[in-house]
Amino acid sequence: MQTEIPGPRSREILLRKERVVADPLALYLPIVAAQGRGATLTDVDGNTFIDFAGGVGCLNVGHAHPRVVDAVQKQAARFLHTDFTILPYDVYITYAERLLALAPFSGPAKAAFFNAGTEAVENAVKFARAYTKRSGVIAFENAFHGRTLMSLSLTAKYSPYKAGLGPFAPEVYRAPFPYEYRGVTPADAFRALERMLATYVPAETVAAIIIEPVQGEGGFIPASGEYLRALRQLCDETGIVLIVDEVQTGFGRTGKLFAIEHAEVEPDLMTVAKSIAAGLPLSAVLGKAEIMDAPAEGAVGGTYVGNPVALAAASAVLDVIQDEGLVDRAQRIGEVIRGRMLAWQQRHPQIGDVRGLGAMLALELVEGFRAEPAPDLATAIAEEAAERGLLLLKAGTYSNCIRVLCPLVISDAEVEEALDAWEEALDEVLA
Ligand code: PLP
Repeated sequence: MQTEIPGPRSREILLRKERVVADPLALYLPIVAAQGRGATLTDVDGNTFIDFAGGVGCLNVGHAHPRVVDAVQKQAARFLHTDFTILPYDVYITYAERLLALAPFSGPAKAAFFNAGTEAVENAVKFARAYTKRSGVIAFENAFHGRTLMSLSLTAKYSPYKAGLGPFAPEVYRAPFPYEYRGVTPADAFRALERMLATYVPAETVAAIIIEPVQGEGGFIPASGEYLRALRQLCDETGIVLIVDEVQTGFGRTGKLFAIEHAEVEPDLMTVAKSIAAGLPLSAVLGKAEIMDAPAEGAVGGTYVGNPVALAAASAVLDVIQDEGLVDRAQRIGEVIRGRMLAWQQRHPQIGDVRGLGAMLALELVEGFRAEPAPDLATAIAEEAAERGLLLLKAGTYSNCIRVLCPLVISDAEVEEALDAWEEALDEVLA
C-alpha cells in the first residue's frame, strides 16, 4: 500500500463524483480504479489490491486477460454494432453453438443474447409465459434477480432495492428458500411450496419458478441437490417452467461450469451473465428449443442485444476457461479458502456459518445467542481488509455476509496473501 485509503487522488476524484453523479450510485469502497491485471487492481494512488470482489462476479478470467483484450480489439476494429436482427453476424451464432454444447440440456436447445443479467431474467419470464400461457411466477426469499420491473419484483431484499419504488409487477409469489443455518430445511421449504400451490396460487396458473442454485446477493446460500431435484419433479408434474438463474453462479465459479450441474438437474431455461464476457455487458437466456421459440417474432430483442464485441470477448472467455482449467481451479481455490474460513470459525464465535460451493464461498457474521445478523462487523472487516490491500464484498439480506468472488486465475501465492490479510482484519475486528 502506498497511501491511506482513500488516497489523495481517489479523494479528489470522489469529491467531483459527489457533484455530478446521482447519489443512489453509492460507493462501496472509496477507491478509484486505474488498472486491473489478473487478480489485482491498482488504484489512482498506486495502491495495489487483491480483488476478491471481482467486479461482483464478472471476472472469473481476471482483469484484462490478454486473450480477451485481443479478441475485443480485433472485433472492435471490424465493426461495433449492426443490431443482430437487422444485419446478423457469425460470432453470435458461433458462440451460441459453443455455449449450448456446454449447457446442461439433453435435447434441442436455443439461445438469445441480451446485455445485463436483469434483461436475461425479464426475457426468461417472457419465454415461460408465452410457452405456458400462464402468468404467475414463483421466486424465493433472499432472491436477487435484478433491478428492472419484472426482475425487481422477483428480487426479495426490500431495502435498498425496492423501498419506495413500487408498485411492482403483479403475479409474483414468494416461497421460502432452503436455508439450513436459519432453520429452514430443504423439506420445510419444499412443504411450504407445496402448501402455496394448494392454497394460494394454483400450479395451473404458474408459468415459472425461478431459482438461484446458490443464492448470490442473498448470502451465498446453496440449495441442496435434493431440493433442486424435488423442484424439477414438481415442475415436470405441473408443467411449470423451471428457470435456473446462473448469473452469479455461472462460468466455473462453483467448480462446475454451471452450478445446477452439481445437482444433476436439467433446467427448462437458464439465465447467464456476469463472467460470461469478463466484464463486457452480455447476458443470455438458454433453454429448451420449444420454450425459446414460443414468443411471437419480434417479441424479444432490443437495439444492443448480443453486441458483437461482447460476444467476441465471451468466445475468448470460454477459450481461457477451457485452456487454463479454471473450473477445476475453482474447486481447488475453494478448498483452500474454505479450510481457512473453518479455522477462523473455530476462533471467532461471530462467524456463524461458512458455506458455499467451489470458490463461491461466504462467511455469515452474527452476534448474540440468537445469532442475530451483524452487518457492522462485516463492514468493519471489509474496511480493515482494504487497508491491508484486499477488496472484500458483502452480501446477504442483512448485509452481514462476506463473499468470495475472486478471479479464478488468481495464483496460489495471491490466495495466501489475501487470506492472511483477511485473517488480520478478522482478528482486528473480532478480537
Ligand atoms: N441474477 C442474479 C443471480 C444476480 O446475482 C444478478 C446481479 O447480481 C442479476 C440477476 C442481475 O444482473 P445485472 O446486475 O447484470 O442486471
